[in-house]
Parts: sequence; C-alpha cells; structure tokens
Amino acid sequence: MSNQVKFLLPEDRIPRRWYNIQADLPKPLPPVLHPGTLNPIGPDDLAPLFPMELIMQEVSQDREIDIPEPVRDVYRLWRPAPLFRAYGLEKALGTPAKIYYKYEGVSPAGSHKPNTAIPQAFYNKQAGVKRLTTETGAGQWGTSLSFAGSLYGIDVTVFQVRVSYDQKPYRRAVMETYGARCVASPSNETNYGRSVLEKTPAHPGSLGIAISEAVEIAATNDDTKYALGSVLNHVLMHQTIVGIESMEQMAMADAYPDVIVGCTGGGSNFAGIAFPFIGAGLRGGPKPRIVAVEPAACPSLTRGKYAYDFGDTGHMAPLTKMHTLGSSFTPPGFHAGGLRYHGMAPLVSHLKELDLIEAVAYHQTECFAAGVLFAKTEGIVPAPEANHAVKGAIEEALRCKREGKSEVILFNLCGHGHFDMAAYSAYFAGDLKDDKYDEKELAMALSGLPSVPEAA
Ligand SMILES: *Cc1c(COP(=O)(O)O)cnc(C)c1O
Repeated sequence: MSNQVKFLLPEDRIPRRWYNIQADLPKPLPPVLHPGTLNPIGPDDLAPLFPMELIMQEVSQDREIDIPEPVRDVYRLWRPAPLFRAYGLEKALGTPAKIYYKYEGVSPAGSHKPNTAIPQAFYNKQAGVKRLTTETGAGQWGTSLSFAGSLYGIDVTVFQVRVSYDQKPYRRAVMETYGARCVASPSNETNYGRSVLEKTPAHPGSLGIAISEAVEIAATNDDTKYALGSVLNHVLMHQTIVGIESMEQMAMADAYPDVIVGCTGGGSNFAGIAFPFIGAGLRGGPKPRIVAVEPAACPSLTRGKYAYDFGDTGHMAPLTKMHTLGSSFTPPGFHAGGLRYHGMAPLVSHLKELDLIEAVAYHQTECFAAGVLFAKTEGIVPAPEANHAVKGAIEEALRCKREGKSEVILFNLCGHGHFDMAAYSAYFAGDLKDDKYDEKELAMALSGLPSVPEAA
C-alpha cells in the first residue's frame, strides 16, 4: 500500500488489558510443585514471595486482565512502542519477504523489562511491601526493577551475577542512580550464598544462584518480597502488551505476520510478542509460524529436557515442568547474559510440547554478525540478546528469498545494546568464541533432576 516505515499508535491506544493465554490453551499447564513436599502448591504457598494480586494473576484462567490506570499512566512514558518496516535490511538481504520489527528499546531501561517491572512494583506497593529483592544477569532486569522501585518508593536489592557485576560497571551505576543496592552474587549476605562461596570462593555466579539469594531474603523478611523478570505466567502476561500493540500496528500496515520471531532467555519478550497472535490462532484466526531463537551455548528449548525442575540452584523456589538444562548447569560465559538461564518459562515449554511453536539455536558470533548488519541498515544497535531474534528473522527472510516467497516476518527487537558495547568490541576484535555447552556438565546437571511422581 504505502512505503511507510514507522507505525505509531496514539497514547490513548495503549492497551487496557493484558492477554492471558491460559484461557485459550487446548490443555492446561501441569501443576506447580512445592520444593519440599513435591505436592501441588496453592496460592498461599507463594504468599511469602509475592503479593496476592500477582499470585492470582499467576493462576488466573481469565482471558483478559485489566491494566490498572496508574500503570497505564507510567506506560505512557514510552508506550505505545513503535513498529518499523525494515526496508533497509530487506534491501541488503535482497529478499522478497516483508520484515517488520517491534522496538522495545524505547523504554527508560532500554528493553521490554519495564513492561512487567512497573506493574510488579505497583501491586507490591499496594500490598504495603517496603523492599523488593531480585536477581539480574545482564543487568536489564535489575535496571528495570530499580527504575520501578524508585517510582513507587520501594527499596530494591539486586543480586547481580558476579561476572556481570565485574564486567558491567555502568549497568550497576544505572541501578544505583535509581537508588537500588547491588550485591555481587554469590554473596556473603545469605546462607545460600555463603555455602556456595565456601565450596568455590571464586564462583562466577549464575542466575540460578542469584535467584536463590533473592528468594532467601524475601522468604525470611516480612516487609520484603521477591520479583522475577521472566519465566512466570504473570510476567509473560504483562509482556503481551507488546503483541497486542503489534497486532494493531500490523493492521495499520495492512499486513498479518506469516512468521513471528523472538529470542528466548526465560521466554518473556518472546511470549509478549507471540502469545496474542497464538491466542488469535487458537480461537480460529490465522496461525502464523512462531519461532523461538535461543543461544547454542544455553539451549534449553532445543536440547533441554521437558521435566519438573527447580527454578533456582538452591532449590528454594517451586518446581515447574519446563525445558531445562538442570538447575545446577552453569552455562559458558557468552555475551548475551539475559539468555543464560537453565530453564524456560513453563508456558513457552508447554506450547513447544503442543507443537504450537518452533525453536532454533544459533551461535553468538553469527548473531553478532546479524546485529551488525541490522545496525548498518536500520540504525539501531541491538542488545546481544536481541541479536538472536535478528538472526532468526534474517534466516527466515533468506529462506523466503530461496523459495521466492514474499512472506511477512515480524520480530521483537526487545532492547538496544548501548550498555553492551564491550561485547561488540570483543566481537570486532575476534575475541568471541562459540562455546558449545559442555556435554558432560549437561549430562551431570540433567542426572540431578528431581524425581517427581508420574501423575504430577
Ligand atoms: C532479559 C532480556 C532477555 C531475555 O529474557 P526473556 O524473558 O526471554 O525476554 C532478552 N532480551 C533482552 C533485551 C533482555 O533484557
């Protein structure tokens, strides 16, 4: 129709409701189990960690949940986020495909994560919570929750994975600017952290360990709760604002995606763009292909096992059925820190089992090459995590070229890479290696999976 590049929605089109895919699942999610008893848990079991409003969202079967007006007011700082047609990238690839991307890097934290940090802080504030603890790997989630905490007057303590704490001093400075306290994990501030340091004094840390530390503090302090930036049902639901806006913007572009691509760490930005479209398909609408892209060095969806596992290394968090590399797996130190988690969101895992989504894995150097081409043709330097989605979209566009098809491709550009330029420098210097995950360590981590009664 037109050669419009940018599709913008007016402020009053910020969605009024999040979408809950649980309402449309052909088969319900397997139950969540108590880490001690291995019995299914109820809302009360989660009450030490989360405010009841978020727990009810976690288990809700309602298709839509109202976004509180005060949360919509904060969303207005950067939402609706723009959707672009990637003409420059299409031209460089010589593809007949039409590539669109939703850009979530326009948020104050530079990624999609504030979409859930804001409502999580809001509901905690309503419940009278004084302090939130959390973990961060790459720093994006810690930044987002610190920002949200500062808006609502809640103290935030961030357990930052040790390698990231050392490698990314500017991320820490941003969190501290928002008033948060950053602690390198494993730390001496928790029983679990001390136990890890006792065995391995120079431990580089992992998301699984940092989660255990954050959960321990929340579980043992009445005025403190825990916030998770991905994986959980309510987090994925908050992110559906991305897909709901995208649907409206694709309609403005007079197009509907044939393929939707997102990168997957814990699964939240992927779910955010894909779930509203999957839901429309489940309710009788068109069914685009949905492609999850993960790092070959931490391939939970493509190489992990679909099994009950702990969400954290210290086994304090509940067990969920998910694609997992084992809760003791420490992925090699590649540069997309946000994708270094041993498990995958139960909802994303469930959809994979139901064959409603596909998954592929790429190495980090080929993803950086994709990100550099994207930056040169579209102008935005993607986050290393987002490079995986760029790579996935490029591969689909090249397939369209081979097959002579002008399919419509939509991907989530979930964040910019302005705090990750050291990783780009390492890439340009030829210092990035394509580590495969260690087969032996993986086998060991998987052999340690908890045994859970078949019925569960
Ligand atoms: C945190 C993060 C990810 C990974 O988390 P998901 O829950 O899978 O989205 C990916 N990209 C960016 C930019 C992130 O900040």
